[in-house]
Amino acid sequence: MTMGALLTMLALAAPGPRPQLPAPPAVEPAVFKHSDVIFMYAADDAAYKAYGATFVAWGGANTGPEVKRHRDLGIRCTGSMWCLTAGAKNLHDSAELREAVARDIEGRPVEVPWLFDHAYQGQKTWFGCTNHPAFREHCRREVRRVMAGGADGLHVDDHLGVAQAATAFGGGLCDCCIAAFREWLKTNAAPGELAAAGAADLATFDYRDLVRRHAATRAEYLKVRGRIPLKDHFDRFHLAAAADFVAELGRVAAEAAGHPVLLSANAWVGDKRHTVVAPHLTHVVCETPFSAGRGAADVARALAAFDAARALGKPLAVTGGGGDWAFVKANQAEDLVRFWIALAYAHGQWFMAPHPKRQWCFTKELGTHWYEAPADAYAPMYQFIRKNAEWFDGFDAADGLKAEIVNREPPAGNAAAGPVLTVRRKGPAGPVVIHVVNRDYDASARRMRPGRGVRLRLPVPLPAGMAGRTRLLAYDAEPLAAQVRTEGGAAQITVPELRIWTLVVIE
Ligand SMILES: [Zn+2]
Repeated sequence: MTMGALLTMLALAAPGPRPQLPAPPAVEPAVFKHSDVIFMYAADDAAYKAYGATFVAWGGANTGPEVKRHRDLGIRCTGSMWCLTAGAKNLHDSAELREAVARDIEGRPVEVPWLFDHAYQGQKTWFGCTNHPAFREHCRREVRRVMAGGADGLHVDDHLGVAQAATAFGGGLCDCCIAAFREWLKTNAAPGELAAAGAADLATFDYRDLVRRHAATRAEYLKVRGRIPLKDHFDRFHLAAAADFVAELGRVAAEAAGHPVLLSANAWVGDKRHTVVAPHLTHVVCETPFSAGRGAADVARALAAFDAARALGKPLAVTGGGGDWAFVKANQAEDLVRFWIALAYAHGQWFMAPHPKRQWCFTKELGTHWYEAPADAYAPMYQFIRKNAEWFDGFDAADGLKAEIVNREPPAGNAAAGPVLTVRRKGPAGPVVIHVVNRDYDASARRMRPGRGVRLRLPVPLPAGMAGRTRLLAYDAEPLAAQVRTEGGAAQITVPELRIWTLVVIE
């Protein structure tokens, strides 16, 4: 029996749960192979070799020599800029840029809360306004600067620009934003809606007048903004304007590089605000929260990002949030990082190689600081992926085929500690790989408790030939032939010891 027949039988005999998401649209051209190893920032040659790097996602190749160094190593590379702020020093030095910032209902600039420790001679870090011509030109200049060497792609950090200030911090209300919002309303709002909001005459309508009927200060506005008419339009306008600007920056990048470029944004796609830009991107590169302080128990937001990226048809390269890395650094929680790496690849996405010098950490107490991720702790996982590319490349989630654990109760008091299982297959009739990821994390010992004799069940029998060829692969052990037995029309496969991550290869 072929695997195709096996899957057909499955479809007839055991429909299983319906897929949660529609099949993803084709991603073309293929931006990454699943066996690609993606660095976040540039690193030295030794680090690239240790990990088997193939792509650097978050800039670091601004000049011709930097691009050449990467190409010579077989690594594609990027330039990176941000739409968040001109930075405290530029703001201090340029009256024009100080004008081109996000403003609240009182006309005051809006400070970037997480950059409280980035001030320059008394000048705080204010959100730039991506609807203001001066800040837009600053962003274009930055793109030309970082793409001057002809890098393969542009990465846009803080792609929401002033939309971030508008949707979360009471900004987005400067003259430029208001004028652009008026244009948006002309084509996107129904006349009845406008009349009800007192905006029937768009030629004279100023959204701030409407806001002031409800709130005179930023603090009041943040409390009541959900009740202000046209609020949904206001948010949608800002998100659409930000996405259009990212698309424009992509065109500026291609012009500066002299060739078509990849375009990514730091878009946490688990949040709908960040999905508006997706159609303009070739791929997504983002930080996603892994709730490191709760061990391996709460990965819902990471899984939401993986699922959303799949639904959007965009490859997703992630790293943990600044708080996650601060936790890892403070607690030497290396097994947690290994768990995140396995979790991302098991879901068809990429976890960027933890950076040997500059992995961003953030806490309120310490502000920005850095983790130097030891290569010997993490590189073997990436080398394993490179070496076993044939079990990663071209596979997709097998939505109709669900594996389950049959013999192992979640450890007492830790209901979320059962292994994570994903089933991936190559084409409709190709081989199947079950990813088994341990999540039984012992916080006091800072390690995963190994699972012994973990038995998986696939709701179909494996033909004898296939059963004989089922293998277990792990980055920290030699390949092993699997014990497979058929019971009640289902195949049971035993993983003798589950440490971090086991691949069950069925071909
Ligand atoms: Zn503005």
